[in-house]
Amino acid sequence: MAKNKKLTTAHGSPVSDNQNSLTAGPRGPLLMQDYQLLEKMATFNRERVPERIVHAKGSGAFGTLTITHDITKYSKAAVFSKVGKETPCLVRFSTVAGERGAADAERDVRGFAIKFFTDEGNWDMVGNNTPVFFIRDAYKFSDFIHTQKRDPKTNMRSNTAMWDFWSLSPESLHQITILFSDRGLPQGFRFVNGYGSHTYSFINAANERFWVKFHFKTMQGIKTWTNAEGEAVVGADRESSQRDLFEAIEGGDFPKWKFYVQIMPEADAESYHVNPFDLTKVWPHGDYPLIEVGVMELNRNAENYFAEIEQAAFEPSSIVSGIGFSPDKMLQARIMSYADAHRYRIGVNYAALPVNKPHVEVNTYHRDGNMRFDGNGGAPNYEPNSFGGPVEDKATLEPPLKISGDAARYDHRAGNDDYTQPGNLFRLMSDNQKEQLFSNYAAAMQGVPERIVARQLVHFYKADPEYGRGVAKKMGIDMDKFAPWAELSLKELIEKTTEENYGG
Ligand code: NDP
Repeated sequence: MAKNKKLTTAHGSPVSDNQNSLTAGPRGPLLMQDYQLLEKMATFNRERVPERIVHAKGSGAFGTLTITHDITKYSKAAVFSKVGKETPCLVRFSTVAGERGAADAERDVRGFAIKFFTDEGNWDMVGNNTPVFFIRDAYKFSDFIHTQKRDPKTNMRSNTAMWDFWSLSPESLHQITILFSDRGLPQGFRFVNGYGSHTYSFINAANERFWVKFHFKTMQGIKTWTNAEGEAVVGADRESSQRDLFEAIEGGDFPKWKFYVQIMPEADAESYHVNPFDLTKVWPHGDYPLIEVGVMELNRNAENYFAEIEQAAFEPSSIVSGIGFSPDKMLQARIMSYADAHRYRIGVNYAALPVNKPHVEVNTYHRDGNMRFDGNGGAPNYEPNSFGGPVEDKATLEPPLKISGDAARYDHRAGNDDYTQPGNLFRLMSDNQKEQLFSNYAAAMQGVPERIVARQLVHFYKADPEYGRGVAKKMGIDMDKFAPWAELSLKELIEKTTEENYGG
């Protein structure tokens, strides 16, 4: 039998007794000098880091992206350099609204965050299982998330807050059509697609820019639960998605996703009928077909969940040469907020933790800060310098991006069509899917004041009259009463549905 190692304190001195604390006599009080007890209790008090404000409940695994098709004419990124190229990756899946102890089988968007450890640094694709999002301007992000979290008074989640916000923000209609469809309650993380959602850019070796969207399609097939099935699962197992992913990988049944891109030539953005930088819109496949790129396989579970998944930090700002940003307002704001969240949650040196550390050499002039646990860079700590410190590489400079216009707070709803694409999705659904959609809405709108329900029904009706009528019928509401309101502007609709004007 292997000989046990000697138990020590955090400072390396041997522990003589790990069963009995130091007391004044066998029945006496504890002594302040029992530093081993104090260290143990104080360390335990600090075992948790703050949970993520959103996407707190998650699961993850490691794997590989293998390139199967040549896209070097679009991007010079090392990850795409040749067919057969393999890049290690880490994926973290999550729910959004629930806290860290929440059940997995709940109706919610699923986070789909990937960290690719490429030969030229880390590339993070921090997406969801939906190609769009509820809002298009990050100025509304904290407002939106507040409606998904606990009400300040009741400390419970509030259907009224959710529907009040959504019905006042019709740009959310596309995303809620997905959320309340069958796909809003997946059977597990293996059965969802992943989308980069934002528009990013590709830069090729000739320094040409293309706009790009990323799609990861599950090779396990989309599998979903109805609300009733989901409730039964939660009653028996709160960790259903974690268990499914972990056990599949542990048993050698490695989940895979096919990786595709949609490519838009840079100049098309000016004339395409949809704003390609609007996160509430997709690029229809008919206009921009999916181009196959590779296969991502997850084949290794973490050995230590806290070290490798909880401390994993993904950020859309982590890009590599050949992949760039776009003017998408949500993306621009996320470039700031994710790294900022990690600095708060884990600490300023989070990128040096083993799970986040790039597989290439890191050379910066950042120094010091809380919990600096690597060599801290040393001298010189400034640039330019005459002592052989790291220097910039102009080869990675992106081509200039043309930007025009006057700085102002432009109304993002003015002239924006929030109804066609949600309507297109609705019209794609089978009768059974439509039926599930109507029932899921009716369940989620329980207890919401009628004037707010009426406002939302008008949005459904504007996407497709059958959509509005279907939800209204499930709720026992006469759609004919509100159908004429589809002609109103948003401002007029809001006026109609104030407490004063609607009457309760
Ligand atoms: P297509 O018929 O070419 O594509 C339809 C897409 O819808 C497929 O990607 C399909 O995914 C997906 N889909 C089907 N049911 C659902 C659902 N309940 N929730 C989310 N996605 C679903 O049509 P278009 O490209 O013209 O798009 C039509 C509508 O499809 C869009 O308005 C949008 O709502 C939705 N959609 C479009 C995507 C895009 O990038 N163009 C991506 C995802 C959705 P799958 O192939 O996995 O079955």
